[in-house]
Amino acid sequence: MRKTNIKAPFIAPHVTICLVKGNADGAWMIGDVLVGVWTRQWACLCLGLFTCIAAQAASAADCLGHPDALGTSRTLVVDPREHPRIGTMQYAQTLPLGDHEVVLTFDDGPLPRYSNQILDILASQCVKATFFIIGRMAQAYPQGVRKLSDAGHSIGTHSQDHPLSMNRMSLERAKQEIDDGIASTAAALGDPTMLAPFFRIPGLLRAEGVEDYLASRGIQIWSADFPADDWRHVSSSRVYDLAMMRLEAKGKGILLLHDIQARTVAALPRILHELKARGYRIVHVVPATLQNPGTPTEPQQWQLHPTSETVAISHWPKIPNFVYADAGTLPAPALSDSGWHDGQLIPLAEPFDRARPLARGVVPLPREAPWPRQSPPPLDGAATALPVPAPSIFEIQEKERATTQTAAPSAHHAEQKVRTELQTD
Ligand SMILES: [Zn+2]
Repeated sequence: MRKTNIKAPFIAPHVTICLVKGNADGAWMIGDVLVGVWTRQWACLCLGLFTCIAAQAASAADCLGHPDALGTSRTLVVDPREHPRIGTMQYAQTLPLGDHEVVLTFDDGPLPRYSNQILDILASQCVKATFFIIGRMAQAYPQGVRKLSDAGHSIGTHSQDHPLSMNRMSLERAKQEIDDGIASTAAALGDPTMLAPFFRIPGLLRAEGVEDYLASRGIQIWSADFPADDWRHVSSSRVYDLAMMRLEAKGKGILLLHDIQARTVAALPRILHELKARGYRIVHVVPATLQNPGTPTEPQQWQLHPTSETVAISHWPKIPNFVYADAGTLPAPALSDSGWHDGQLIPLAEPFDRARPLARGVVPLPREAPWPRQSPPPLDGAATALPVPAPSIFEIQEKERATTQTAAPSAHHAEQKVRTELQTD
């Protein structure tokens, strides 16, 4: 007899209690909507006004102690098998967001000193986001991963070691990076089913073999709709400016941030405040489950550049070479002329390869990730991939000079080591 966990779902904890029983394989799920489509024989009993599958977003009015909070306007349930690649920085599809809807994503953590501050800021606004966890960070800070999950955010993965060479490494090695990152994060969570089948490729350095492998496992690849350059050595006000400027240019979309950067911590309160002031709404994305099918959408809602959005169409392809140092008026990341026209990968320079040997043994890793293999979904023309963003957007102009005076000695060392190795993206 396995244990049974009961936990209030993260969205509406004051009204709903969900109980989910484990399946025959021993996978367990507690409380919220993150039961994967790959699981089976789930039983879900929900008590209260809502069901597990109809979890409601926390509106600003529900944000206790913060009546003026931005809040989370709705939860969008997506089926990775139907939409395996999203994000207009690279793909023809993106999340089916309405005008002025924003999805927040944070990569490369957790790094408790900053991730915890990000958590507090999001909590103060009752905003839910998606975190893409690096396996090695999960091994170093398993409690940090649990804190993110316990706060109700979606937890995806971002490889084991964050190599900036997934477009060039062997497929076998790329699979290992993906699988180990999932296993490490699942081990940190203590429950593989708490993990969303969402993956962001390090440096967005896509490759067809990698994409096909992820699709075969029912894992959705998240590129983004716009970054804010918060991995660069820029000021927090610059991060704010870029986030708002690029959002305004598109009107909606997936914002790529990092929860391991002090400048992101500094910029986030102002970003959230301004989102509210300008009438933007936060959407929380969760994966579809057997009990919680995908939010009904029309195919065109997932397409890049709907015909009604002429601004993005007129700007993007015409940019010959995107220079981030002078990005004042540009709405989208770089795509070279040749890259745009022929759809081929842009070769990347060697300095972007920061592959490191796997750091094993810190956390026992389940060898089987939570998602069984599935047949790759058929990709229609809409899923045609765009080239990777130009290498310049992942360059680091100056070395990180963060201080670590507050961490305990052992954590301090690990944090410094990890930070040194994770300076980009
Ligand atoms: Zn990253």
